[in-house]
Amino acid sequence: MTDRYQQFASSTVGSLMVRRLGLPDPVPLRRYEPGQPLLTGPALLGGAPGGRLSDAVAEVLGKADAEVVTDAAGDTRFGALVFDATGITSPEQLVRLHEFFNPVLRRVRSSGRVLVLGTPPEKITAAAEKIAQRALEGFTRSLGKEMRRGATVQLVYVEKGAEASMESTLRFLLSARSAYVSGQVVRISAAGEALAPEDWTRPLAGKVAVVTGASRGIGASIATVLARDGATVVCLDVPAAGDRLSTVANRVGGSTLQLDVTADDAADRLIEFTGGRYGGLDILVHNAGITRDRKLANMDRGRWDSVLAVNLASQLRINETLLSRKGLNSGGRIIGVSSMAGIAGNAGQTNYGTSKAGVIGMVQALAPRMARRGGTVNAVAPGFIETDMTAAMPLFLREAGRRMNAMTQGGLPVDVAETIAWYANPASVGVNGNVVRVCGQSLLGA
Ligand code: NAD
Repeated sequence: MTDRYQQFASSTVGSLMVRRLGLPDPVPLRRYEPGQPLLTGPALLGGAPGGRLSDAVAEVLGKADAEVVTDAAGDTRFGALVFDATGITSPEQLVRLHEFFNPVLRRVRSSGRVLVLGTPPEKITAAAEKIAQRALEGFTRSLGKEMRRGATVQLVYVEKGAEASMESTLRFLLSARSAYVSGQVVRISAAGEALAPEDWTRPLAGKVAVVTGASRGIGASIATVLARDGATVVCLDVPAAGDRLSTVANRVGGSTLQLDVTADDAADRLIEFTGGRYGGLDILVHNAGITRDRKLANMDRGRWDSVLAVNLASQLRINETLLSRKGLNSGGRIIGVSSMAGIAGNAGQTNYGTSKAGVIGMVQALAPRMARRGGTVNAVAPGFIETDMTAAMPLFLREAGRRMNAMTQGGLPVDVAETIAWYANPASVGVNGNVVRVCGQSLLGA
């Protein structure tokens, strides 16, 4: 749906009014296009003394043809600021953040990137260091809310031993693929060996993916992005959506599977289809979801049951069957689609919020089991995304949803899809058990 306010704010008269009146200024975000450079300018790389990640970061940036500088002198405007905070072992040393960022923040370009790298606090025993590393979260989330012109800020906690597993995450968070992701905390574990894809523009070559609810909206975009990245995509949706489903499948060169995910035999049919036609399945994206909104006092049992059945119970059943019948190849990926409603809650959505918080529970419960199989399970939690679902919202609620985030605009389905493609990347083996919000750093929720 067109964001008319954004169009107005980008016009000559509009931008003048926006500045004079201090109105929201939703700048067009830089989004990924094939062949595009990783960054819009050089990356300034710094770190607290004793940090362990700077060399590995410089290597990744070099491989991605990004220019790296370590001296902030001059008036260069930066595409990214990257700070290795792993050397910070006490709260007193947090001042290093101020020393590094304060002089250069005004020199970050439009849609620039800020990354802080730390050690997961839960893996640290020394109290002072644990506290200091935990404090990084408040710094990055606050800085994200101060950035303007589409710049993003993230914190990446890298476990000791995972130094060589950062590449897919750095490429995602530094690039235009993460346009609508900001204020997030990502954890990279040392589990498994992160195998770099032969071709970073087609990291999913040779992989088979199933996307549920693929006939429209976010699901159709996920199918498109996974196919662009090289995957063969099975587009799954209910039989009633058959025509639209075929259109999407044809567009992405994939196949269709008409199936209601709540059917008792859904998992068996999925395994038979992917096994029979492609010899297995590598990536399962549980995107199908429904809303049946009512305040709880007015909600009939049918609304509760249907939302929980589609958004949660069917996914658990399919996962269980896939894993117990070895329907998912080793190194496989399961990816859930949660929602901000599952984190912050939403009036009128007790059923939906319950199901979407359950998806986060699913990620947490399944992550150790997936790690043992060399695979991963993660989820995205979209905020306000421009789809048919949000276009149907009442005008006032829609405008509030769009503007109440650090980017003062709604995200696009492709923003959710790019995040899912990062999880699916074979090099993301250390990215397990994460829930990343794709919400432009919504002002609601954590
Ligand atoms: P949508 O309604 O446009 O698409 C959902 C798709 O799921 C439809 O094609 C539908 O036919 C399919 N589906 C529904 N029930 C099914 C079933 N039983 N079996 C198989 N397919 C089924 O929704 P969307 O906006 O594209 O959202 C996609 C996902 O993102 C959902 O899980 C939704 O909860 C989540 N989400 C969306 C937003 C947003 O702003 N649009 C925000 C947060 C989360």
